[in-house]
Parts: sequence; C-alpha cells; structure tokens
Amino acid sequence: MKVTEHLSNAHGKTLFSFEVLPPKKGENIKTLFSNIEPLMEFKPPFIDVTYHREEYVYRKHTNGLLEKHTVRRRPGTVGICAAIKNRFDVDTVPHLICGGFTKEETENALIDLHFLGIDTVLALRGDPIKSEGQFKPEPDGHAYACDLIGQVSDLNKGAYLDEEQDETSATNFCIGTAGYPEKHFESPNSGADIRYLKHKVDRGADYIVTQMFFDNEQFFNFESRCRAAGITVPIIPGLKPMTTKSQLTALPRSFYLNIPEELSEAVHLAPDNAAARQIGIEWCINQSRELMAHGVPCLHYYSMGKSESVRKVAAALF
Ligand code: FAD
Repeated sequence: MKVTEHLSNAHGKTLFSFEVLPPKKGENIKTLFSNIEPLMEFKPPFIDVTYHREEYVYRKHTNGLLEKHTVRRRPGTVGICAAIKNRFDVDTVPHLICGGFTKEETENALIDLHFLGIDTVLALRGDPIKSEGQFKPEPDGHAYACDLIGQVSDLNKGAYLDEEQDETSATNFCIGTAGYPEKHFESPNSGADIRYLKHKVDRGADYIVTQMFFDNEQFFNFESRCRAAGITVPIIPGLKPMTTKSQLTALPRSFYLNIPEELSEAVHLAPDNAAARQIGIEWCINQSRELMAHGVPCLHYYSMGKSESVRKVAAALF
C-alpha cells in the first residue's frame, strides 16, 4: 500500500514509521533484520531505506602508484527493500537519488521496484560527494529532486524512454519528497526553499518528510509557511533521539540544524554517553507527544543504523 493510503486509512491516529540504513558492504543483512525486529511491535505502516552514493578512494596499485576507485559502502537499497518487505510483511520506501544516476538508470530502478511490488519512493537529489564539494548531476541525470519527481510522475502517466517497455504502463508510484524546517543548507533563504518545495509538490510529490529537528517550533513554523504557500500534501516530521555527546556537534555539522540550548546544556553536562542517551530519549518523547497533540499524521524516526533508542521512544508513546 502507498504511504498516502496508509496516512488516510489511519483516520487521525498517529502512525510510527522508521528509516533504516542498508548494511555496510560485507555485513550480513541479519544485523539489519535484528535492528528492525524490535520496531515491528509499533506496527509501522512503512520502513524507509536510505540510498548511499559511491565515494572516491585511493588504493595502492601493485606498481606502488595510487589509483582512484569508486566504492559504495552501503549498496543494495532496492534488494534490501524487497528483503525487508518479504521478511516482515511491511511496505518499504526506497530512497531514490539524482546523484550518480542517468535518467535511464533511474527508469530501470523504477521498473525493478514496480516488479517487486514497491509502490512508494522518496525522491531526493542527494548530497554532493565529498571530493566534489558541489553537487554535480550525471551528464544525462537530474540536477534537482523536482526533475526526478517529474520523471517518476511521467512514468506513472505512461511516458517511457524505450517504446518497448510497455509492461511498465501500470506504474503508479506514490512520491515522497524532503522538506527542511530549518532550510536546506544551499538555499539563500527559507522563502526560496519553500518555493522550491512547492515546485516539487506541483511536479508530483504526494507527501513531505522533514529533515530531523530538535525544536518543534521550527516544525510548526515550517508547516505554517508551507500551508501559506499553498502546499496541501501531508507533512511528516522526521525525528531522531540524540544518542551520544559527540552528536551535539556532529548533527549540526552533517544536517545543518540547531540544537536548542536547554538540550545542548543538558547533554553537555551529562557525565557519560549513557546519561546523554537518556536525555536524548526523553527529549524526543516530549517532542513526539507535542507533535501528536498537534495532529501530525505520522512520526518518522531516523534510526541511523541503531534502533534501541528509537524503540524506547516509540515504546513510551505507543
Ligand atoms: P532539492 O529539492 O533538489 O534541493 C536541493 C537544493 O536546491 C535546495 O537548496 C533547494 O532549495 C534548491 N532547489 C531545489 N529545486 C531547485 C530549482 N528548480 N532551481 C534552483 N534551486 C533549486 N541523501 C542521500 O544521499 N540518500 C538518502 O537516502 C537521503 N535521505 C534523505 C531523507 C530525508 C527525509 C531528507 C530530509 C534528506 C535525505 N537525504 C538523503 C539528503 C538529501 O539528499 C540532501 O539534503 C540534498 O542536499 C538535497 O536533497 P533534496 O531532495 O532536498 O534536493
């Protein structure tokens, strides 16, 4: 079932969904399954699986010279979605990115997903790879998520790159897109960011999932600005319990977000990571309760490879 169908079938009850990462190359999928298992008691209507681009590394050749290689540290998003769906009988949402994909490769991935019975995708641009500094699309790829959304939408309407791919005529993907309560880091201002978000919805996005935030006021403001701009699709807040003291600096660095002073003070003064984790869990429970009371359709939790803290948050609310 599509994400939007799950949301409308919930009849006002807040749903709990989760985002997981594909296992690292060489690891066994059983580790991922054992991370998901404890989350299933919260009856998630869907589980998102992130997509990770290749990175460039230098390896020493036998001749002693360094050679540039590409590696994908967490490959297999499509296959992992299918495996989770089969193992837990839950809908899965693969993240699909522009970076590293030509339009034809994107279409092939969509056809695979369609064959696998996966009917929702979260369409994203992807971050620039470290060595690039600035995002560079493939020569025949998309520069922005709105164009990827346009491609999925067009495929839904029966447009193909290859006339012979008639069997895909039945695609009817539900399309999710990303929103940023604290603005995307490349946007000149939040007004421009919301205008581009509206454009993504106009191109075919059916719902929005937000970047994580630790201050609900950021979400409430963002939601009001979206509604004022004419964005009517469901907006799902993304949340993550802080789990270590080092995340006080790592999360703002990676995700361009603010940590409220009250939380940062408490985590800073925590004697160790166990105490910091407890503070992070309680903060996230309070955030979740307030968002539920506000009437959000779903709470989407980022597990970032470890589900224990997320499980504790959901257990306090379910
Ligand atoms: P876009 O919507 O394309 O926006 C990128 C920037 O360009 C923004 O500053 C925007 O304001 C601007 N912009 C948008 N459209 C236009 C336009 N038409 N003209 C000019 N400027 C424009 N990354 C991954 O690599 N893998 C993942 O699995 C992944 N999952 C994510 C899940 C969520 C819920 C979120 C919030 C982010 C995720 N990301 C993931 C990160 C995401 O790829 C980055 O934040 C990326 O930098 C932007 O992606 P986007 O889809 O928001 O891009």
